[in-house]
Amino acid sequence: MARVFNWQLGREMSYWYPESRPQRQFAAVFDTNKCIACQTCTLACKTTWTSGKGQEYMLWNNVETKPYGSYPLAYDIKLLEMLNGQQWSGAKYEGQTLFESAPAGERVLGWRPEQRDYAYPNVGEDDCAGQVDHGEFLSLPHMNWFFYLPRICNHCTYPACLASCPRGSIYKRQEDGIVLVDQGRCRGYQECVRGCPYKKVFFNPMTGTSEKCIACFPKMEQGITPQCFENCIGKIRLSGYLSPPGKARPDNPIDYLVHIRKIALPLFPQFGLEPNVYYIPPIHAPVSFNQQLFGPGAGEAMKAYRNAMNDPDLASLLCLFGSTEKVINRYHRQGELAVAADEKGVELVRVPMREPVHIRPAVDQKNQLVRINCP
Ligand code: SF4
Ligand code: SF4
Repeated sequence: MARVFNWQLGREMSYWYPESRPQRQFAAVFDTNKCIACQTCTLACKTTWTSGKGQEYMLWNNVETKPYGSYPLAYDIKLLEMLNGQQWSGAKYEGQTLFESAPAGERVLGWRPEQRDYAYPNVGEDDCAGQVDHGEFLSLPHMNWFFYLPRICNHCTYPACLASCPRGSIYKRQEDGIVLVDQGRCRGYQECVRGCPYKKVFFNPMTGTSEKCIACFPKMEQGITPQCFENCIGKIRLSGYLSPPGKARPDNPIDYLVHIRKIALPLFPQFGLEPNVYYIPPIHAPVSFNQQLFGPGAGEAMKAYRNAMNDPDLASLLCLFGSTEKVINRYHRQGELAVAADEKGVELVRVPMREPVHIRPAVDQKNQLVRINCP
């Protein structure tokens, strides 16, 4: 095993291959506070990439309700139980990663789901954390919370799928860090399915090979966001490229949210994969639960998000989520406007931070009509 640096853990760790960061890294930020679980993203992906034979159960994008939802069943609970101790000391992870706790002779601590674990993608949907008995009413603060967690492949810096593959069929592209399965090399051993803790590689029994999210690379290469981003009804998603921590640029939206403001956090950083999909934690869920999912920075991230209305630079960037189908490489605030540009600096969109309010008269003499409840 090689020694590599994982900035999400604040320390070096063991990995099967030496550190090799791509020229730039595909990354995303999902704002969990805005997701409405409409599953439009799930269907946008399904109809684009996984509508063939053998792909029936595959959800490269899924949206699960936390705390009880998980797809495949219990994918996260099972691993958290297997992983011995997950101690953080401030921002440094003192516990063991999945690579460090691999059993002798194996590269990653993992498990392979049974077929029926994939049979209930909506288990736990809209189930809240507390019991709501007959006659109960809402009082604040209340513990009966839940939230939606959309998930795709994290295009990890240290992918467990790639490390697990004995044939070397999985590779990480140098130009954008997207992780792909070479369908020509794959022999269907399913070690990647076993190794990926997020269970985002799927076996296709018809082709006998493994398949996974490709971050819609044909679109990303054209500067257009993936299907699940473009179609997101809640406008919770932002795609782009993340710089290594020492090279963060404040005008790069992903860098700003992840490295500079630290408001967007990785999912289960303790696994050690340095995943590149980042989440703004739900501000109504308990801090301890968010820390389990998103690491020790969850409390501060929740505070910063709550204060966004007094924080114009952050608020303006949050307004740009879902505002264009193009990948936003740069942004700045111009007074009350959020302005986005592509990598060449060409302006893509400008969004007002406050929607203008138009009050139309109830009795419209000009058009000879009466409006009811139409402010
Ligand atoms: S999320 Fe899983 S499938 Fe995706 S790159 Fe990471 S280990 Fe591989
Ligand atoms: S389309 Fe957007 S809002 Fe709807 S479920 Fe997916 S991530 Fe959530």
